[in-house]
Amino acid sequence: MSSIAKERWQLDSHPARLEEILPDGSVRCHLSPRNCVIKEGGLGFCKVRGNRGGRLVTLNYGKGVHLTEETIETEAVFHFAPGERILSLGNIGCMLNCGYCHNWKTSQARYVTDNDVYYYTPEQIVETALRHGIRILSWTYNDPVVWHEFILDTARLAKEAGLINLYKSAFFISEEAVDELLPVIDIFSISIKSIDSEYYRKVTTGWVEPVLAATKKVYKTGKHVEVSTLMVTDISDDEQTARRISEWVKTELDANVPLHFVRFHPDYKMSNSVRTPISRLLQAREIAREFGIPHVYIGNVSGVDGTESKCVKCGNLLVTRYGLNAKLVGLDTHGYCTRCGHDAHFKLLEPRPCSNDTTFDDSLLDGLEQRTFDWHGDVVSLHIQVLNTQSTDAPVYHRRRFRDGASSSWTKVDLRPGESYRFIMAKSREDEVGPEVMIPSSASSNLHEVFDRAHFPTQSIEEVGVSHSDVTPILQYAGKQNMYDQLRKQGEAE
Ligand code: SF4
Repeated sequence: MSSIAKERWQLDSHPARLEEILPDGSVRCHLSPRNCVIKEGGLGFCKVRGNRGGRLVTLNYGKGVHLTEETIETEAVFHFAPGERILSLGNIGCMLNCGYCHNWKTSQARYVTDNDVYYYTPEQIVETALRHGIRILSWTYNDPVVWHEFILDTARLAKEAGLINLYKSAFFISEEAVDELLPVIDIFSISIKSIDSEYYRKVTTGWVEPVLAATKKVYKTGKHVEVSTLMVTDISDDEQTARRISEWVKTELDANVPLHFVRFHPDYKMSNSVRTPISRLLQAREIAREFGIPHVYIGNVSGVDGTESKCVKCGNLLVTRYGLNAKLVGLDTHGYCTRCGHDAHFKLLEPRPCSNDTTFDDSLLDGLEQRTFDWHGDVVSLHIQVLNTQSTDAPVYHRRRFRDGASSSWTKVDLRPGESYRFIMAKSREDEVGPEVMIPSSASSNLHEVFDRAHFPTQSIEEVGVSHSDVTPILQYAGKQNMYDQLRKQGEAE
């Protein structure tokens, strides 16, 4: 468990919680169920917690990937403030090593270089969210479990400032750590990969029991919980997985907990696979509904049935969704159906005025530089990162372009001097061609193609070009047992 620091971000450390000091100078970490025992100078499984001088420390306090404005749909949360903008915050490392991870470049600490790492204080994060009119912080991407101390400090400050905290996690976490999160986290989006122990062991390197126990625990405290399951092609996209997860949600939580079946794309150690056929996601949805779960959705799809919300009593359309965009169309302010008054199990925030300026003056764009991007194949969302190099505030404008030549109205983002800001644009309807962004000529900007939700791309198209894989490469698939063998061999080689 020892390692030699190669990157600057690994050098300094911060005291860690949930430590147990052992008589021989080792420490035991009680943050995740691994309970790593770490010798002086060593690191735990996650490679971001270690033993320095006989004390447990964390190497990633205040160190993460670039903060990013997204929508709450990015986090597989459909029944809390649909369409709400969130500030997504991801870090480095993970207590798991899932074979399909699409954030493996940041979740697996050995791949993280100093170029990927941004430094934040709790105060900076809260101030950024408030200044950009964002009401929800989302702890997400790699996995928030291993950012425990920084999350507790920031989420506490955020709550004091009136913000809401969302925690999107695989939730391989100890009970003690859950106890510490409960006072500050409001929404839990939990990824339960499967109910099958063999799958957990072989594909995620973890085990399922603590995940289920922690999920039950947060649900019982009355927190808003949504559950998602990644349907990995030919491994966990079968009827039995759908049946077992539906049964578990219904019997151990509640039938009204929203359940998401999420489309997989080949990545990391499971690149030699194919995308989940949509027919299997729809079949899983049908199975869950037969079990009596009314709020079932499919994820990582656009323009497909199974993403909208309808009233289970009268069939009224409540929320329309396209990709990562959502619109309330049939809910009152309490989350009830506007047609029949049935409780649709939604939590909504106070409405606020529309941000689009209808009296926009084109001269505001004078001197700004235009950047455009065309949606192609599976790439239907984009992270736009802009650094304001000026010593004064600088505006960035963005809008959507449609096939008939029309455009949406402009949305403005104000950047402080020296501020670097990243925000998502996601295709909102079938005839949308792509985004258009107007950026001050003195600013530097990067565009990052996003592959599926909660994906944090580390490389921009300026560095690696526009992807040519319009649809995830479909290679010959080796079969479930071969995939397990392949993962085992790769694990041994690491
Ligand atoms: S968080 Fe988990 S993996 Fe990391 S050191 Fe602690 S027990 Fe080990």
